[in-house]
Amino acid sequence: MSEVMLQQTQTSRVIEPWQRFLERFPTPSACADAPLAEVLTLWQGLGYPRRAKALHDAAGIIQERFGGVVPRDLEDLRSLPGVGEYTAAAVASFAFAQRVAVLDTNVGRVLARALENRTLARSEARRLADALLPRNDVALFNQAMLDLGAQFCRATPHCEICPVASHCRWRQEGGEDPAPNSAAVSRAQSPYEGSNRQLRGRVLRALREGPHSEGQLDVTLSDVSAQRREDVLASLERDGLVTRRGRRVSLAGSREGTSVGGPLAASDSVVKKGDR
Ligand code: SF4
Repeated sequence: MSEVMLQQTQTSRVIEPWQRFLERFPTPSACADAPLAEVLTLWQGLGYPRRAKALHDAAGIIQERFGGVVPRDLEDLRSLPGVGEYTAAAVASFAFAQRVAVLDTNVGRVLARALENRTLARSEARRLADALLPRNDVALFNQAMLDLGAQFCRATPHCEICPVASHCRWRQEGGEDPAPNSAAVSRAQSPYEGSNRQLRGRVLRALREGPHSEGQLDVTLSDVSAQRREDVLASLERDGLVTRRGRRVSLAGSREGTSVGGPLAASDSVVKKGDR
């Protein structure tokens, strides 16, 4: 659950909702049995709500196909909605102590800068990450790599206080920063303010209070064009997050609405920045 939340939300913003989720859904089955609308409501504050639906769908699959127990196998993990390469590896390593490298945008920067001082293709980054794994304490090593990227080797790196500066090729050799175009490294997100993501958040916030007529939502989003309002509603409906009956709109899976989307298709799966 924490890895899905951490896909696109900072750790400091995940802690409180994560505790809330664990309390309400101590097992995958508890989440699967809850209406999607409740999961969407509890998701408030985390952003990118397709992840909430993916999590709910994954809980249902874990209940049906894996007897209510999160699978340990990497391929089984990858088969779950919303679980990409990064998330599967993180769960396998941190929860099940498997010998698999965790490769996300933070680790991608460290590999490109410190080890190679060149732009890395995804397959190269993966090969390097695997080759670096120690014989023991793999989870600890993975955590250290993630922290190195998150604390020091950031998009704007803090080389002067970095613990591996004396071993870093980019630091020693100089040249253009090799990280930005490396395969595992994500690009900066487009601004949230004024985006459709923000509008989707406003619609979902309103619907958490209860179903609305489209007329009421028109008032809620009166500062944007009718076409944009329709686009936002249609995208939420397409993602299986809201249900429209006539001109009445509600959260999917609420008493008034029934979830219209099945499990997210593979192409819809939410991926961590490093999963692309
Ligand atoms: S010295 Fe700078 S570039 Fe090299 S790993 Fe540390 S933070 Fe990254």
